[in-house]
Amino acid sequence: MYKGRFAPSPSGPLHLGSISTAIASYLDAKSNQGLWLLRIDDIDSTRTTSHFTKMILKQLDDLHLHWDETIQYQSKRLENYRHYLDSLNEIKCTYICNCSRKKISEQGELGIDGYIYPGTCRLKSNLMHRNNSIRIITLDEMITFEDKVQGSVQQNILKHCGDFIINRSDEIFAYQFCVVIDDYLDKITNVIRGSDLLESTPRQIYIHKKLKFDIPDYGHIPVLNFKNKKLSKGNGDHLDINNDAQKIWLTCLKILNQRMPNKDLSFKEIIRHAIEYWDIKKLKKIKSIDVDEHIQT
Ligand code: GLU
Repeated sequence: MYKGRFAPSPSGPLHLGSISTAIASYLDAKSNQGLWLLRIDDIDSTRTTSHFTKMILKQLDDLHLHWDETIQYQSKRLENYRHYLDSLNEIKCTYICNCSRKKISEQGELGIDGYIYPGTCRLKSNLMHRNNSIRIITLDEMITFEDKVQGSVQQNILKHCGDFIINRSDEIFAYQFCVVIDDYLDKITNVIRGSDLLESTPRQIYIHKKLKFDIPDYGHIPVLNFKNKKLSKGNGDHLDINNDAQKIWLTCLKILNQRMPNKDLSFKEIIRHAIEYWDIKKLKKIKSIDVDEHIQT
């Protein structure tokens, strides 16, 4: 059975970009008679707060984006993350690393997500975990997948990012790792999210494979740019829903390039229409869309 999800990090309230992602994943799930789960990505306590979680839940509710099943919180899954980190340790594909960012920037080249880690600590066996990070060993092989929106994607993670961190030096589990465990535990079959995570997907697929988990289908929708900058919760971009929920839905359907409903439909009918006519193939195969015309300042 189709199971999709929306997984916001509560580093700020939702903005037009994250709301379009929520709507796209909701519509994809509902038009496939599937379930739509909500997960709060609050693992990184240095940049997320429960205050923003409450705001996000209220925004989703105001938008009539009602989730199925109980909400999952990454912060409540530490035991699960430890368990699967142990599994990776057992199959000997991890190692402890004490390189500082400065050291890596001096040795490594810039890759798709910061500096490519040159593998300096791979062969060291005397390091302790305390205050050090844990990396996963990557292989010189191509990871390929068919994205439902962006088409065929290929990446050699060893060449483009190197062995990457799964547990940070402050002992916070890294996003790339948690998301895999979460999607597995929640039995997610389809991930619809922003294209800013397209380049992360091969790393996630790699961890899925290492742990012998089923790999979900992925679809990465264009992120929204305002004044040439990606909308971002962490930068304070947000959208007040107030009485504008219906208007925001219509704006998102337009941005998502979907068939528009008649003007005289009620809010509930608009949502029903959007589910009925949702067509993922109509999404533009591009990484970002400028939305200056849709945002009033
Ligand atoms: N928590 C991430 C964000 O808010 C999304 C994670 C995901 O969809 O995999 O950008």
